[in-house]
Amino acid sequence: MTDRDGDPHDGGQPTEQEFEAEVRAFYEAHAMRRPVDAGTLSTGTLGTGAWGTGSDKVGLFPERTPEEEAAELAEAKAWAATAFDAGLGWITGPLAYGGRGLTRSHQQVHDRIASEYLRPPLGVFTIGLGMVAPTILAHATEEVRQATLRPLYRGDLVGCQLFSEPGAGSDLASVQARAVRDGDEWVVDGQKVWTSGAQLSDIGEVLCRTDPEAPKHRGLTAFVVDMHAPGVEVRPLRQMTGGASFNEVFFTGVRIPDSHRLGEVNDGWRVALTTLMNERAAIGGGSAGAGSSLTRRLLTMARAFGRADDPLVRQQLAAVVVNERVASYTNLRALASVAAGQAPGPELSVAKLALTANMVRTAETVASILGPKLVADGGEWGTYAWSEYVLGVPGMRIAGGTDEVLRNIIGERVLGLPKEPSA
Ligand SMILES: Cc1cc2nc3c(=O)[nH]c(=O)nc-3n(C[C@H](O)[C@H](O)[C@H](O)COP(=O)(O)OP(=O)(O)OC[C@H]3O[C@@H](n4cnc5c(N)ncnc54)[C@H](O)[C@@H]3O)c2cc1C
Repeated sequence: MTDRDGDPHDGGQPTEQEFEAEVRAFYEAHAMRRPVDAGTLSTGTLGTGAWGTGSDKVGLFPERTPEEEAAELAEAKAWAATAFDAGLGWITGPLAYGGRGLTRSHQQVHDRIASEYLRPPLGVFTIGLGMVAPTILAHATEEVRQATLRPLYRGDLVGCQLFSEPGAGSDLASVQARAVRDGDEWVVDGQKVWTSGAQLSDIGEVLCRTDPEAPKHRGLTAFVVDMHAPGVEVRPLRQMTGGASFNEVFFTGVRIPDSHRLGEVNDGWRVALTTLMNERAAIGGGSAGAGSSLTRRLLTMARAFGRADDPLVRQQLAAVVVNERVASYTNLRALASVAAGQAPGPELSVAKLALTANMVRTAETVASILGPKLVADGGEWGTYAWSEYVLGVPGMRIAGGTDEVLRNIIGERVLGLPKEPSA
């Protein structure tokens, strides 16, 4: 085996060509090929064939019973473990923490091949891998990196993000949950809200106030908390989509070892920014492929209902496709600059905003095509099912930074416009 530079003796990492064969063999052995018309959302699998066949679920926050949720989690964990054990769970991760130590190009090779196969829904790992793990890698102690990174990427641990509170959302620096030092531990009391996936999580990244006297951005500290520790209580919140994918989380006298601190005491704002930038990358960048699959479903529906030649519907469909293509190039540019070692910047805010703007366009196009079938369940395949998507779009416009806040960031940091007057 030779390395990328052709030297057979410097570490034995596969060339992209060798890696492609390896990935192909793995997927042939463990997954079914995706039929031409199928697609996936991060939260589920679209139909497995032509219009009218397979599942018609397209929800962004699907409604599931606890039993369905547990079965889906078990399936996702089994897949993650198999992929990790085959060396495909953390392709670009450092070898020291269980990663494969390969390049972003290897990752792209993997993603291209993976998109040709059906995998179980892996959305349960989005926050743990997209936001918490990169923050742990950047800011945690060696002990916590060793204890959490490999299990997170292998699917043995699920992670959540405990930032928002009833009085701290867009204005995140207003966090009030208190952490008070007690010897080698911290004691946390307070409430978090909108915590996605907390009900399934084993660890969480929690942002707490550690110096109430300091200016609000300077008195925060972040920790990795054990979600099964005494004093952690998770209460589900039901959404208008019908499901309950996020929660309130109450902390009462929860003890966290100081070794589980992320970054320095009172430097939690910097840690939170690492997470938020990765969140925008995970939402904006990670969804480009899912968007395309969904758009294919939309086009198939327009044809199935004989609306593909209607000039107004065609115009709407074209706008969805064109904006999706432009957004995917913006995402690739943003992700390439991150891969080249630059700190994620405001371009990720553009990526997230572009994604949600196109979700709104998609929802409007769906409504044009389906009319009343969108709101009244007549039992017809692929019609009322879209209501879960349409009702989920407002949540996507809020999660990970609201449209308004992202526009402020773009206005101030990209376009250099005067700062928004603060209240
Ligand atoms: C689906 C979903 C999943 C989520 N998951 C998580 C999670 O896992 N973990 C977590 O910690 N949080 C999570 N959140 C919470 C999310 O981060 C917050 O809802 C978001 O930051 C907005 O905060 P808020 O809800 O307090 O609204 P507010 O900040 O109170 O905003 C209310 C309105 O005022 C506008 N506004 C606020 N400030 C400004 C400003 N300066 N200029 C102009 N307009 C402004 C907003 O755009 C919004 O329209 C989730 C939210 C959703 C919807």
